[in-house]
Amino acid sequence: MYNPSSLNAEEFICHDEALASIAYASENRNNLGLVDSIIEKAERKKGLSHREASVLLACDVPEKVQKIYALAERIKQDIYGNRIVMFAPLYLSNYCINSCSYCPYHAKNKHIARKKLTQEDIVREVTALQDMGHKRLAIESGEDPLNNPIEYILESIRTIYSVKHRNGSIRRVNVNIAATTVENYRKLKDAGIGTYILFQETYHKQSYEKLHPAGPKHNYAYHTEAMDRAMQGGIDDVGIGVLFGLERYRYEFAALLMHAEHLEAVHGVGPHTISVPRVKRADDIDPDEFGNGIDDETFAKICACLRLAVPYTGMIISTRESKATREKVIRLGVSQISGASKTSVGGYGSPDSEEENSAQFDVSDNRTLDEVVCWLMELGFIPSFCTACYREGRTGDRFMALCKSGRISDCCHPNALMTLKEYLEDYASEQARRTGSALIRRELGNIPNERIRYIAAERLEKIAAGQRDFRF
Ligand code: SAM
Repeated sequence: MYNPSSLNAEEFICHDEALASIAYASENRNNLGLVDSIIEKAERKKGLSHREASVLLACDVPEKVQKIYALAERIKQDIYGNRIVMFAPLYLSNYCINSCSYCPYHAKNKHIARKKLTQEDIVREVTALQDMGHKRLAIESGEDPLNNPIEYILESIRTIYSVKHRNGSIRRVNVNIAATTVENYRKLKDAGIGTYILFQETYHKQSYEKLHPAGPKHNYAYHTEAMDRAMQGGIDDVGIGVLFGLERYRYEFAALLMHAEHLEAVHGVGPHTISVPRVKRADDIDPDEFGNGIDDETFAKICACLRLAVPYTGMIISTRESKATREKVIRLGVSQISGASKTSVGGYGSPDSEEENSAQFDVSDNRTLDEVVCWLMELGFIPSFCTACYREGRTGDRFMALCKSGRISDCCHPNALMTLKEYLEDYASEQARRTGSALIRRELGNIPNERIRYIAAERLEKIAAGQRDFRF
């Protein structure tokens, strides 16, 4: 029985409800009156139910699909402006006792180089990331209680925050580690993490169990209920996601939104972010094996429909996607992207062949951070290295309330400009500096509040004079 308020995975991600939603969407996909009424509802920026959003995803009337894309662009612009938040993943360890069929870190893979960063290695990695200009990381690790216990993760977070190289610092560490206990989530919260991220991989229980035949991750309920434990442990911001390509995308789409509805119903706040990774070729992994790959057009439509369904939830895309795909979806709703990522353990500090052999999957965007920054600015976006919200206590429902009131732009816009200015001063190429300075001058005028505009201008001058880390 479908019950978004239940704490039982199979009730809030109800299989029958997901199937019924797909069937309803299929029957109604060209019901133009219904499609229009759902688009009109989405225009109010209050979101859509998983069923309503499923109808839009299924609709294939070209004129309506264009309307969905246009609205996604408008909502993106209204809520997030032209800012794109930058981050990089940091792989701590690829030791893993799980058996995920899509991941080369699975325990049976004997020829991948296994590596775990020491604290000295972490200092080297973080220094290299800081020297590129990164301020926000997502740490990644396999699940292995002996090699990567929670104490190791906590120590690594402390090390990351402690590194201050030249003007560099990592100001927000998001964490993507396996589902764990309330007690461990509390420890992560106390260590000052930003978002706790965990991908569901697939919401389809039967497929989930097949794709994770052994190891702790086999337990569907434990994995699916992880965000409830994280929130019980005091973590306000959680990031959910599906690994597209494993199961049928319409099922995953409906279930992903059911998960968001569940978090809202139980904790009063939905997910902070949604990630939309697609399964990639990797060491001993062939994505075609799963038979559910989605083309770029479907992928873009998923992003657009998510933007309409959960307008205030950030959307993340990684370097799994190519420059061309990224260009398309940052217009349609994606608000955070990674840049210059290495998916190998130790790949930033010493990118030699052994480390590359520890890579998790092939990346499709191999550009440097500076190239990504230039590209974004040339497209009219503001690359933002901002980490202010969680450092100012704007997390969970406080963040959402501010977001929904529209007042968040008074913070985000100047913060984006100030952190971009830091990037230009400390790390940028000549070309980035030229383009960025003109962009900042132009965008300063777009801060609506006069007082904030004045303070931001003052702070930009102070940054040019060598001061750092201002925030609204
Ligand atoms: N080990 C943790 C867990 O089990 O949730 C999280 C860390 S794992 C390094 C991060 C994510 O990488 C996984 O959740 C999965 O979705 C993704 N991933 C694994 N194999 C992949 C592949 N071949 N292509 C794309 N993404 C992959």
